[in-house]
Amino acid sequence: MISKKKALEMIDVIADMFPDAQCELKHDNAFELTIAVLLSAQCTDNLVNKVTRTLFKKYKTPEDYLNVDIEVLQEDIRSIGLYRNKSKNIQKLCRSLLDKFDGHIPQTHKELESLAGVGRKTANVVMSVAFDEPSLAVDTHVERVSKRLGINRWKDNVTQVEDRLCDIIPRERWSKSHHQLIFFGRYHCIARKPKCDICPLLEDCREGQKRMKAQLKEA
Ligand code: SF4
Repeated sequence: MISKKKALEMIDVIADMFPDAQCELKHDNAFELTIAVLLSAQCTDNLVNKVTRTLFKKYKTPEDYLNVDIEVLQEDIRSIGLYRNKSKNIQKLCRSLLDKFDGHIPQTHKELESLAGVGRKTANVVMSVAFDEPSLAVDTHVERVSKRLGINRWKDNVTQVEDRLCDIIPRERWSKSHHQLIFFGRYHCIARKPKCDICPLLEDCREGQKRMKAQLKEA
């Protein structure tokens, strides 16, 4: 693993590349954001936004989601993967919001994670984006980037990735860095075809060096 100092230097370069990175899931309030993040599991933000454009006009409150048969909700989100499970979780989540939280999205990690379909990543995103609480959610992009750069080991789990990043990045930058690392992974250090040849981090990136050498051999 690379040193904390080197890791922060790399994260600073990424911050300069994507200074305006922010949440790309369209929403108007914490409830909509929670539903959108829940829908985004194994699905792109673009597709979620396409679906929620109509969905959020039809369903505005937890009651709205509970007042329809599950088959109707399934049909409304059908184009998103795992729509059966997600519909079930949305209705369970809405039931819990009404039963335990007066119909509102709770504002603590523990309470959020008690909701159906809400894990640590979703709770972190909601706390950070909706409630301005410094949080660093580790999604597939953040995990891949952190491991490719050698900030984490390949065998580390998401909690270890989150702990290491939170240890390196100053707390007040956690939320912004989360979005910047996502943008870097989504638009530059792409899963299948990272842009190593134009990457400002290539010199210090073992994964990038390996890929460039392999490319040269193929040529
Ligand atoms: Fe990603 Fe390649 Fe840049 Fe390394 S050099 S961070 S693998 S794009």
